Amino acid sequence: MKDFDASGTLASAIDFHLAHSVGKTPDSASITDWRLALSRAVRDRLITPWFDATHQTYAKDRKRVYYLSMEFLLGRILEDAVNNLGLEDEAKEALAAYDVDFVDVVGDEPDAALGNGGLGRLAACFLDSLSCLGIPAHGYGIRYAHGLFRQSFEDGRQMEMAEDWLRHQHNWEFERSECLYDIGFGGQVTENGKSAVWTPSDIVMAQAYDTPVPGWRASWTNTLRLWSAKPRQIFDLDPFNRGEYMQAAAPEVLAETISRVLYPDDSTEIGKELRLKQEFFFTSASLQDLMRRFLAHNGDLRALPSKVAIQMNDTHPAIAGPELIRQLMDVHGLGFDAAFDIAQGTLHYTNHTLLPEALEAWEVSLMGAILPRHMQLIERIDDRLARDVKASETGVNTHIVDNGKVNMGTLAFTCARKVNGVSALHTNLMKQTVFSDLHAVYPDRILNQTNGVTPRRWVHGCNPGLRNLLNDTIGTEWVRDLEQLKRIAPLADDPDFCQRFMAVKQENKRRLTDWVSDKLGVDIAPDAMFDIQIKRIHEYKRQLMNALETAALANAIRRDPGAAWTPRVKFFGGKAAPAYIDAKNIIRLINDIAKSINNDPVIGDRLKVVYPPNYNVSMAEILIPAADLSEQISTAGKEASGTGNMKFALNGAVTIGTLDGANVEIRDCVGDDNIYIFGMTADQVEGAREGYVTQNYIDQSPILSEVIDQIRTGFYSPGDPTRHWPVLEKLLRDDYFMVAADFDAYWDAQRKVDEGFADSDGWARMAVLNTAHSGWFSSDRTIQGYADDIWGVSSLLEDDK
Ligand SMILES: *Cc1c(COP(=O)(O)O)cnc(C)c1O
Repeated sequence: MKDFDASGTLASAIDFHLAHSVGKTPDSASITDWRLALSRAVRDRLITPWFDATHQTYAKDRKRVYYLSMEFLLGRILEDAVNNLGLEDEAKEALAAYDVDFVDVVGDEPDAALGNGGLGRLAACFLDSLSCLGIPAHGYGIRYAHGLFRQSFEDGRQMEMAEDWLRHQHNWEFERSECLYDIGFGGQVTENGKSAVWTPSDIVMAQAYDTPVPGWRASWTNTLRLWSAKPRQIFDLDPFNRGEYMQAAAPEVLAETISRVLYPDDSTEIGKELRLKQEFFFTSASLQDLMRRFLAHNGDLRALPSKVAIQMNDTHPAIAGPELIRQLMDVHGLGFDAAFDIAQGTLHYTNHTLLPEALEAWEVSLMGAILPRHMQLIERIDDRLARDVKASETGVNTHIVDNGKVNMGTLAFTCARKVNGVSALHTNLMKQTVFSDLHAVYPDRILNQTNGVTPRRWVHGCNPGLRNLLNDTIGTEWVRDLEQLKRIAPLADDPDFCQRFMAVKQENKRRLTDWVSDKLGVDIAPDAMFDIQIKRIHEYKRQLMNALETAALANAIRRDPGAAWTPRVKFFGGKAAPAYIDAKNIIRLINDIAKSINNDPVIGDRLKVVYPPNYNVSMAEILIPAADLSEQISTAGKEASGTGNMKFALNGAVTIGTLDGANVEIRDCVGDDNIYIFGMTADQVEGAREGYVTQNYIDQSPILSEVIDQIRTGFYSPGDPTRHWPVLEKLLRDDYFMVAADFDAYWDAQRKVDEGFADSDGWARMAVLNTAHSGWFSSDRTIQGYADDIWGVSSLLEDDK
């Protein structure tokens, strides 16, 4: 057995850790053991850069960024770290010496699924870009014991199972048992002259767990600090001494409930007491932590805005406004106005949705019971807002506390120096709709930062074939400077390059074909068009419209099977919130349609429908590189940005989509000829609301009518003909997302897609140009925008240049 040597080879480090960290010999090691050993060996390589970054940040006393997010949808960590560090070949070779396959080892890691969908994945991409750019930053969130539920299908219905990512230690984090903060709930506030004393009735502790986040080649490494709830005392001694052991353990159970599980709701507000506690728990711990760090080097609290930029990812951490003011007043002795000005100079807020059902609002009675001091401060912030409204002479009428509820969007806006939307369209709609009043009062506060995705994971990591082709063609700098992809644009007219580009796509499709056959037992043909819609199941995303179009296409094929059909495989993927019945009904309909079509010998390989269960980051990494067609078909005005759309375009898929969210900007980048846009615009959608009658649109569309009749008469659920009536009832009663109104335009666009794909040279050209012109959608560009326009921070990597 060799002794450990951090400067030694990766192979020796794996040997060392298999023995000394995992306690196994190579003969007895399982794949998981190898994974844990490799993780430790790779983590060791991060320590020096991590310490260096921390040291430099302290030494230079530069402004830091704190990104507060209820969700971080990280996915797998090991393979991404190996890629960032450039250790892939070494790791492969080291494991191969023991006849162990690197792909199996990294594939053994469960996803860190501490998020629902786009919002949490955006936070993960931002962490990557902050490190890659060398901006000193911490991510702050919750270390949920159970991430997003696992999905399976039973008879086509969604089933949910608890997720258990921490069952095997994951070996990336450092437990900081000394880093603890008290978090209070409930109790009373007593006024004591000018100051107030909050005496909570319950106190839990937040304990830190740190994960290093390496940038490219680890030239900079930041920290993700996640909080886990711990009881302040393990046992209540009185009941314990009386022999009442269960009751004695109650504080422990209560405390740990707070960080036990991620709420599985995406774009819907749930309004549960435990959720409010989670929000305050991680926000208060993060603010206490960053204040401690600030005060260790600065005596003057007024300098806070020049040293600290806090970003609130949506309103989930919006209690940061009153909490920071509370700490400044009740702990550090400032008056309200001074505290407000400092807090407001430090905080920034990103809005992610305009959907009314997603806007957080807490009952005043609940807020007052759980956070009595904060409720007082919210009233005072509301007075400040009223003063500004009056001074603005705009005549608008807007309040934080309204109708017995605390409107968290208004609170976040009022407490923030800058407020941003996540695509150009979304930001404009913010100004015109939810925040029109506040925008009138504070006309300089709203700005746009269009979302992006990290090219490290979403091209370099998930698409090795494309990575190699790009490296051969334009060198390797594109990984950190994605606009370099433009250099392949002229090659869209080079048949040789197009052929190589499509060979990569074909290889990725073959990889997916094998995966589908392996996991689902469905055989698909890799030369068919792979048409993919993967995202959370939500009515506004209109998976239903895609399902109806699929059924209509099956009808057309059955009627004329001899026609020149462009063979397609339609992929669906995504989870519905467990309580979102309408979305779960759509899942079951899609599965029934899939079953019917896949078993119809007349249709054969002309059309297949595949819905692999449990869509997550790892599945996206297999599906996206294999996509020909990207489905981005939300009702215009409803998808704030989307980031799935960007991942697809970067990987050379052509988009069929509405003019919604960042699709608008994708069209601007790739050009009208290289995207299939259809349907109503956001303005037209609002114009069509008055007097909207679903049945009128159905009557005008024979294609849609036929499908609706089939579903009604049980064509897709023989033996249970009424099974899908609830979907139809909802559609006919309240087609709020205008599936019927856009259906024919969607159908026509799909037929143009058929023609486009049949022209394989033309399609290759479009695919190449999508990759070439999507460099702007790097999250590096987004983070540079936040750094320049919002935070006022700069890279520390540039100091050396
Ligand atoms: C990118 C991503 C999302 C967001 O997808 P949208 O299409 O933008 O909604 C959701 N889930 C996972 C796993 C992702 O990787």
